[in-house]
Amino acid sequence: MTERKADKLVRFAFATTDGETLATSHFGSADCYSIWESNGITFRHVRDIINTSVEEDEHEEHHGDVKKAASVMELLGNEKIHAVLAINFGPNIERIKKKFFPVFAHCEFVGEAMNDLLKIWNEIEPLALSPFSLRGDISIDLGNSSGSFRSPHAVVETSRCRGCSFCVDSCPENAISMRAFKAIVDETLCTGCGKCVNSCPPRAISVSHH
Ligand code: SF4
Ligand code: SF4
Repeated sequence: MTERKADKLVRFAFATTDGETLATSHFGSADCYSIWESNGITFRHVRDIINTSVEEDEHEEHHGDVKKAASVMELLGNEKIHAVLAINFGPNIERIKKKFFPVFAHCEFVGEAMNDLLKIWNEIEPLALSPFSLRGDISIDLGNSSGSFRSPHAVVETSRCRGCSFCVDSCPENAISMRAFKAIVDETLCTGCGKCVNSCPPRAISVSHH
């Protein structure tokens, strides 16, 4: 008798530009969500969904916009998604993770992320299938095992930082904070836009692609 797998399927939405390439923009601004489900052995493609909320909000300055988050979550909620995977979730992650289990990726393609997910399936499955009330404030970072690709991100040369905090105010993503009079960058929020680079008098910040 074959084991029933249907109740163990985990359904993912991958934030992509074209269904194959992972988007480096915020999760809510991805062009296309590629929906897949997996039993931990293989992935099956369900469908690709164009993000219709992007156009409505493309002039929004506040990427944590509540309307945008609600629109994307409704879009994906209709697809019965358990987990969402992206390179960059942006500030909306606080809202997203109450509905879907968030997984951070650092690779370039959906296929690479799938390989990484299958490697740690025993961790992924129970978290993805648990509601927020049980799993709590948890996300998983797949790390950088798939290849050399890394999304652009700001890097602070700590020895040059004077602690003036100009960069904190310059960052539209609130990705920079001060600790012990030195700037630190939260890579999960940083989009690599480079606005902080010009704000820094001693040129202590640069944008790295590695
Ligand atoms: S602007 Fe430059 S010197 Fe000032 S806190 Fe930021 S990194 Fe440091
Ligand atoms: S590159 Fe600098 S300004 Fe742009 S999001 Fe990253 S930390 Fe903020």
